[in-house]
Amino acid sequence: VYAVVAPVLFVGLGIFVFQSYALDAIEELNRHAQTDPLTGLLNRRAFDERLARALAAAQRYRRPLSVVIADIDHFKDINDTHGHASGDQVLAAFAQLLQEQSREVDTVARIGGEEFAILVPEVDAAGAAGYAERLRRAVEHMHGPEGICITASFGLADLVDARHDAALLLARADEALYVAKAGGRNRVSRCVRDSGLVGFIALNSATL
Ligand code: GH3
Ligand code: MG
Ligand code: MG
Repeated sequence: VYAVVAPVLFVGLGIFVFQSYALDAIEELNRHAQTDPLTGLLNRRAFDERLARALAAAQRYRRPLSVVIADIDHFKDINDTHGHASGDQVLAAFAQLLQEQSREVDTVARIGGEEFAILVPEVDAAGAAGYAERLRRAVEHMHGPEGICITASFGLADLVDARHDAALLLARADEALYVAKAGGRNRVSRCVRDSGLVGFIALNSATL
């Protein structure tokens, strides 16, 4: 009996060990595909996936949802002055700050070179504006590697219409970001709507 059972057990154990290794490897590959190596944040693809899911849920249950886009001001100058490697370190520090300042339910991602997006569920644009302003101040006070100081501009938009899709939401946040940049940078701007018209306002402590 033993002569029959032993090989079966042995092969079974082998398959078990192989399977758990394979699953680990798949999980690792998955994590890699979703992560930006420099900052450890989610990448654009992963962000888009999360956004699509959160948007569907928010529309279905009629819950608020906001998107904040943050872009470091004059980052090209940081690279030019301090070198690309230092620029990389600043990006990592900026990413860490965003992550630290956000809630567990928020999704922070690096969606471009020096451009980041935060998905803020259960929060409308007014709430997200306060949050973005807090981030803006934290960035302003951050002393990065080599004592490098930066500022960032923020654009945000929220879900108001059940027909909104992810692309439109991001486009609105991006337009708001553009307004923040054009207004002088180091500021928050949000998309506002008035009787169907879309506009953008730059926010300051008085309007927040
Ligand atoms: P603005 O205030 O208008 O945003 O100006 P900016 O200089 O930040 O924006 P611009 O889009 O002109 O330049 C972005 C710079 O970011 C240029 C690019 O070399 C740099 N960059 C993009 N990705 C990386 C990266 O991974 N590492 C480093 N060090 N720099 C990067
Ligand atoms: Mg920039
Ligand atoms: Mg940019």
